[in-house]
Amino acid sequence: MLQNSIELLKSARKSGRCLAAFNIYNLETIAAAFSAAERTQAPVILAFGEGYLKYASFETIAAIVNSLDKYHQLPVVLHLDHCRSIENIRAAIAAGFTSVMYDGSALPFKENIVYTKLVAEYAHDLGVSVEGELGRMNSEDGRDDYSTHTGSDYTDPQQALEYFEQTRIDSLAVSVGNAHGLYKGVPNLVFSRISEIYEKTKLPLVLHGSSGIPDEQLVKAIGIAISKVNINTELAITGAFAIKELLSQEDSTPVRMEILMSQAKKQMDLVMEHYIRLTYRL
Ligand SMILES: [Zn+2]
Repeated sequence: MLQNSIELLKSARKSGRCLAAFNIYNLETIAAAFSAAERTQAPVILAFGEGYLKYASFETIAAIVNSLDKYHQLPVVLHLDHCRSIENIRAAIAAGFTSVMYDGSALPFKENIVYTKLVAEYAHDLGVSVEGELGRMNSEDGRDDYSTHTGSDYTDPQQALEYFEQTRIDSLAVSVGNAHGLYKGVPNLVFSRISEIYEKTKLPLVLHGSSGIPDEQLVKAIGIAISKVNINTELAITGAFAIKELLSQEDSTPVRMEILMSQAKKQMDLVMEHYIRLTYRL
């Protein structure tokens, strides 16, 4: 059942649970997420970033999701991840996305408010949920070095309140010691900051860059106020390693593409199941 994330995030928060959002960009990633959700009987968020448009169109992704969703009784959210273009937000919603993230975090605060508000008004009229972002993080693919980011890049609780009041977003992505891509060493989430932002806004909070954060830290963050965790890097690496392993076998039989892809899917599915069980407290 495709739906927006508003009620799902609210009820997850009430019960001390959290939704897992997985980055998807092809049939294998989408099918893996449906399969992990079926096994755990939990809702799931499928996140397609604007940056993936070079691999598949919004229409293609929505068509695959809708075809699998027809036989799936549990709630599924088709979410546009990290979008900086208003035009792409409109296109994703037109294609059937039920949730969008407008990422104006690199803009000056006032500009971020103006554009996020515009997106929220547009999306809410069409029954689509909106995630905003405040505070600085490294780029989505983890290229730039997050270790240069300091406490001054973290989300400011007072600004978060103003941002919410002006834009009426449904959830907020925060910078609290998390980063995209592979962590260098063990990350340390700033739990007091998560708590302060939640106390001010009472909004469902979103933690990007969640794969690579130790499970105990994720569980603690969820207990405080994180209602959605974004999982990408660990999935992408797991899928790639599954293929690499098959290719490096000393067997003269040629490996076929469909076998590689199905093995990648199977391994990603298991990682997804782990994160659903962890975050949904199963
Ligand atoms: Zn992100």
